[in-house]
Amino acid sequence: MTKQLREYSNLIGGELRPAADGGTLDSVDPATGEVWARVPRGRAADAEAAVAAARAAFPAWSALPAAARAAYLRKVAKVFADAARELAELETRDNGRIISETAGRDLPGMTYLWNNAAAECARAAEGRGVDFGPGVQGLTRREPYGVTLGIIPWNSPISTLSAKAAWALAAGNTVIIKPAEQATVSSLRVGELLREVLPPGVLNIVSGLGEEVGDPLVRSRGVDKISLTGSVDTAKIITRASADALKPLALELGGKSPNIVFADADLDRAAPGVTTQAIFTANAGQICYGGSRVLIQRPVYDEMIERMRAVAAGIRLGDPLSPDTTMGPIVSREQYERVTSYLEIGVKEGAELVFGGRSGAELVEERLAGGYWVEPTLFATTDNGLRVCQEEIFGPVAVAIPFDTEEEAVAIANDSSYGLAAGVWTRDLGTAHRMFRALETGTVWVNTFRKVLFPLEGTKDSGYGNDSLLAYTREKAGLFEF
Ligand code: NAD
Repeated sequence: MTKQLREYSNLIGGELRPAADGGTLDSVDPATGEVWARVPRGRAADAEAAVAAARAAFPAWSALPAAARAAYLRKVAKVFADAARELAELETRDNGRIISETAGRDLPGMTYLWNNAAAECARAAEGRGVDFGPGVQGLTRREPYGVTLGIIPWNSPISTLSAKAAWALAAGNTVIIKPAEQATVSSLRVGELLREVLPPGVLNIVSGLGEEVGDPLVRSRGVDKISLTGSVDTAKIITRASADALKPLALELGGKSPNIVFADADLDRAAPGVTTQAIFTANAGQICYGGSRVLIQRPVYDEMIERMRAVAAGIRLGDPLSPDTTMGPIVSREQYERVTSYLEIGVKEGAELVFGGRSGAELVEERLAGGYWVEPTLFATTDNGLRVCQEEIFGPVAVAIPFDTEEEAVAIANDSSYGLAAGVWTRDLGTAHRMFRALETGTVWVNTFRKVLFPLEGTKDSGYGNDSLLAYTREKAGLFEF
């Protein structure tokens, strides 16, 4: 007997629509490998329809007083609060992120984020006044770009969608969201729910493959600004494709974040912090800012490794919908093959396998045998030049590197093409402040490793630009002489 698959639609101009040509994509549950839903396979015609809808909605939305826009955004926040459990379960089913994270952290965070964006609406309209002398007044006003395009990845769809839509809408833009083909369902469900509270065309969500529906959106003259969260390769493609129209871009890309443990650190905090929050359990390491290069000062190296081993041994791999599970699957077969290839690469290039290294059905109960499972894995090396130290693996695979001095830690940490985030574990305030300045990353966390509402802006190959209120406005200048 074939199971009834739930079908989802695009949100375009306030209507739930299938792809114009009727095409669909299967959504695979990464915990079982089974198809569980169908989503539209949009193409150029769907992209054009979304752009037309967003353009048509822009004049009225941008002309709304800030208080009226804020009222809409508070309604959105309430939708996220009311539907939190349902959305968390969909997201977990969709991409395998464990339910304790989606329900316990992500969804409550969304209510906070949308309420925050509502509260900031008025600030989007704040300009500056400059007195240039008698009769000469300078004035600026902040204006929305127009139609903004948010291209999102699969690893945290609802929060990335929200970060791109909430600030853009608060600033008076209308929005098109293009979810990732590997995990689209939660975004399309958000579309169904927000259709009830937002005016038609203000938010549009179009699903499909990057090259089929993403590319025409990127090239469209009707799109005024693009924010991509995704890989470096896609960022380069989008940069080229949008170059003719000189579109402003924000690129939130990958990372290979150093997580630096000094000998004076509180290891009771550092060991679980480094091991679980930074890499292994947080979405099975499928986190752009994952602290997957663990730099450990030599006096505590052995102890830290043993403590990490103990923490990793307690990680429960399994059904991501179970509240007891602390690590879920890899999102897709393709990504699974990529991650497992690094297990071989690490061994081949001579890194020591400290623990882990297994993958596949043997790690889980039989009903999950078709899913994509990799166990928490730690390599160790003194050579930061290895591929496992330099390339983003995007799975539960970390590498430990010993260091002696603070200068050496900075040199190893900065010897990376990425610059998204870094963690520093120390009790010494001076060390913490020096590291904060010296690390070439957009974010530095001290004695913690977690994203808050601050925008995550990278350096180097981690991209540039961010999703924040002012990033969705441009400043127009006026000079008045009377
Ligand atoms: P990806 O680059 O393959 O895909 C991201 C999005 O881009 C998807 O929606 C995809 O369909 C779309 N896309 C692909 N080709 C396109 C094209 N030609 N035109 C328009 N759109 C196109 O990335 P992914 O594999 O989905 O996500 C993983 C990557 O995202 C990792 O590198 C990760 O580090 C990064 N990431 C970064 C952040 C951050 O905040 N910096 C957050 C999460 C993930």
